[in-house]
Amino acid sequence: MNLESMYQEIILDHYKHPLNKALVPNSDKQVHHVNPTCGDEITLQVVIQDGVLVGVHWDGQGCSISQASSSVMSDLVSGLAVGQALALGDQFLAMMQGQAGSEELGDGIAFEGVAKYPARVKCALLGWMALKDAVLQVQGEGEAK
Ligand code: ZN
Repeated sequence: MNLESMYQEIILDHYKHPLNKALVPNSDKQVHHVNPTCGDEITLQVVIQDGVLVGVHWDGQGCSISQASSSVMSDLVSGLAVGQALALGDQFLAMMQGQAGSEELGDGIAFEGVAKYPARVKCALLGWMALKDAVLQVQGEGEAK
């Protein structure tokens, strides 16, 4: 099996068996993001305690890349300090802009090839952008208090 088909397997597996794909009644912030060019949607919730992302829950619909990437993202960042999670998001964004991905991205590395398809980059980034939005909103509210 070559690398590309291994990556496709990872994406397909997350699409079929998404992680953390269930909304919860109580979260610190809920955001809804859409990718109109493809029709992807995500509703994402974060639960933050003492600067740590203790929960990332989401629901959504759309193409396999958007849904699988959201699944991978939610699994990767759960349990991380907020700053670490944002740094990983920046790494993923850099990979979508053509930089090599690192091991820190876990299954996220499977999306490296998506960078070659500009129309699909927004699909892969949807969950990560929603995460960043939610986290920054929570942080902004914290500072305002
Ligand atoms: Zn898509």
